[in-house]
Amino acid sequence: MKNFIPDKAFIDPRVLNYDVGKIAINHLTELNVPIEKSRRVVIEGKSPLENYSKSKKTIYLTVNKQKKLRPCKPSADYQFSLSSSCPGHCEYCYLQTTQGEKPFMKVFVNIDEILDVISDHIDKNSDITTFECGSITDPVALEHLTGNLKKCIEFFSKSKNGRLRVITKYNNVDSFLNIDHNNHTKFRFSINTRYVINNFEHSTSSFEERIIASKKIASSNYPLGFIIAPIIIYDNWKEEYKELILRLKEELKDYSEPITFELIQHRFTRTAKDLILTRFPKTKLDLNEENRQLKWGPYGKFKYVYPKEKSSEIKEYISKLIYDNFKNSTIEYFT
Ligand code: SF4
Repeated sequence: MKNFIPDKAFIDPRVLNYDVGKIAINHLTELNVPIEKSRRVVIEGKSPLENYSKSKKTIYLTVNKQKKLRPCKPSADYQFSLSSSCPGHCEYCYLQTTQGEKPFMKVFVNIDEILDVISDHIDKNSDITTFECGSITDPVALEHLTGNLKKCIEFFSKSKNGRLRVITKYNNVDSFLNIDHNNHTKFRFSINTRYVINNFEHSTSSFEERIIASKKIASSNYPLGFIIAPIIIYDNWKEEYKELILRLKEELKDYSEPITFELIQHRFTRTAKDLILTRFPKTKLDLNEENRQLKWGPYGKFKYVYPKEKSSEIKEYISKLIYDNFKNSTIEYFT
């Protein structure tokens, strides 16, 4: 897919002190993106829906001065951010409920300072320390503006004890292919059936684009994994998840390293349901509580998941597909 071009960029004046800031501003200028220097982002839509859609086209170039990184269990020891929010419109994105009415994208330019903070956290520990960079953003979606993720991969390649985990739904991975990663960065692609991607993951890379991107990453010998999430039951779900696994198998036939899979069934909270119906009034998502069972979530909220017999069916069916077609694979969890 084409790289994201914002409708408007606000620029924190502090970014002019950083090389990446100047490069990003030049790039935005070349793209004819209107730029406004400001310490705050002003988005004034006539309705919450307009605020949401304008925000998803607005970026704020700024700096990330966080010194203490938050834990990120179970996926990694810590999380850090090169950006927040993302240009995608996935209807069930958990950021929908955490980033407020105006989820504009912050893009951080002070990469050397961010890497210094990571270094400090690595040094505190004598063992391997793992870092996730996709907890509040898609780290690949905005990479073309800064080149920061590439710098991170190169930083981790030289780190004795630091390891990076990347998760993405985007395919602009070419800048990561011919660089030294030293197997210290693991790429995970969030993947799903054509139906799910086409209907619910608006403004993200397509089914085929993600599979081809994963092949490119595999050809560059990165450690590789897939998150299949959310797994949704619909008319033709079994056939389509089978197609997904077989397409992956076909494209990854030359990749001999172990591949990990993480499986997450579709779930929603009442708050998420209300927000999805406001932002995507024509959604085809099945949000009928009567078709679900309640499960107590780790963040103190009930969520609606598939009833036990349905979730067992999903788990058994997809696990068998994976183990039958990827002998060298591990399913890290199903939830
Ligand atoms: S690509 Fe990821 S971060 Fe972006 S909207 Fe979709 S789920 Fe959310």
